[in-house]
Amino acid sequence: MDLEISEREARFRQEARAWLEDNVPKDKRPPDGKDAASYDRAWQRKLFDGGWAGVAWPKEYGGVGGSLTEQVIWYEECSRAQAPAVGVCFVGINHAGPTLIECGTEAQKAFHLPKILSAEAVWCQGFSEPGAGSDLANIRTRGEIDGAHLVVTGQKIWTSNAHHASYQELLVRTEAGSQRHRGISWVIGDVTLPGVDIRPIRTMDGAEHFCEVFYNEARIPLANVVGQLNDGWRIAMANLGFERATALTAAQIDLARTVEMIVAAAAAQPGGRGGSLLDDDDELRVRIAEARVDVAALRSMSYGMISRLKRVPVPGPEGSMVRLTFTQLVQRVNRLAMDVLGIDTLDADLKSAEGRPWVRDYLLSFKDTISGGTKDIQRNIIAERILALPRGR
Ligand SMILES: Cc1cc2nc3c(=O)[nH]c(=O)nc-3n(C[C@H](O)[C@H](O)[C@H](O)COP(=O)(O)OP(=O)(O)OC[C@H]3O[C@@H](n4cnc5c(N)ncnc54)[C@H](O)[C@@H]3O)c2cc1C
Repeated sequence: MDLEISEREARFRQEARAWLEDNVPKDKRPPDGKDAASYDRAWQRKLFDGGWAGVAWPKEYGGVGGSLTEQVIWYEECSRAQAPAVGVCFVGINHAGPTLIECGTEAQKAFHLPKILSAEAVWCQGFSEPGAGSDLANIRTRGEIDGAHLVVTGQKIWTSNAHHASYQELLVRTEAGSQRHRGISWVIGDVTLPGVDIRPIRTMDGAEHFCEVFYNEARIPLANVVGQLNDGWRIAMANLGFERATALTAAQIDLARTVEMIVAAAAAQPGGRGGSLLDDDDELRVRIAEARVDVAALRSMSYGMISRLKRVPVPGPEGSMVRLTFTQLVQRVNRLAMDVLGIDTLDADLKSAEGRPWVRDYLLSFKDTISGGTKDIQRNIIAERILALPRGR
């Protein structure tokens, strides 16, 4: 990858910085619920109206038409300006949209992409089912063809933000009697249709982030199938490639800022031997140095992948390396923050790079090695598809 920034890219950075300085909201995002969803959509709408939504998306669908390097510059500037994250728009912006760009028909792109960019439509992901999480090829939700429709019946679970969404990346078994990866289709599931019942799941922190989504003979137009009928596994792998590889780029850049915030906090805390915590605690200093090195290594890995994406538009199994490295590093960095900040991590006014109390980030980091495929599944993918090791039993 050419890491030199061109004149055009330098100008892009300046313009992005100036726009963000004027437009990043001063009010903080509510932690959960409808207010949080409205906040996320308002910010995405503002980006769209300002001409900054979908930096690397084609212009004809409402994007900026920029390069992948400009996309990374945009994320760096957002992190610098402490701009809000995409929140409930995550699935649409980071993996449904890119999947449609690569695999959708012209009509699907023209209809859905501008709605995703402007936050008119929020998307969610309907892959997991009871009995089909890590073993995704075990899905049982079925779609039967009836004229120009698929009649869909079954259940999805752990669907993040389904109660705020109008569309779902829906995996259904469309070939009766098919097994495993065969006979599955990737469908644009309209979750507002009759026959779709969305039931939020309340978790132990009191939040309702996940839902169960029940399909009871919901009639979805056949025109909503992306790619060919029964070829959905291929589309799902492209979809997961985006989810595992590129979707986390913005969060990786924020992680670098988190590490620097921890360094500053360690330098400001008394260490008990006359100096600061950073001066006096040798073990902590080594952990901080390792976190900095790991962030730099992760960034190199991501740049390598982005460079590859300039040649091959859909990320492959190497996304699992990025995801595994990133999610485990997030957990180590949050543990480090707990050890440096101590009791202050409970202070609701002391905010992490994510704009939340530190303890909340720490607790939330446990989910990262489960969502998008657990760390064990990422290791299996790396072993089998990158290192070509024999399949486990
Ligand atoms: C925060 C969060 C958000 C999510 N959002 C969504 C969403 O929007 N849409 C969606 O469809 N799903 C979503 N999920 C679900 C997620 O994809 C699944 O939880 C995940 O794939 C694991 O599936 P499972 O929970 O059924 O666990 P299981 O598959 O039952 O796994 C249980 C344990 O067994 C291990 N295991 C299973 N198989 C193997 C194997 N072959 N080799 C080694 N170890 C193995 C796993 O690593 C895990 O530790 C989300 C999950 C989380 C935590």
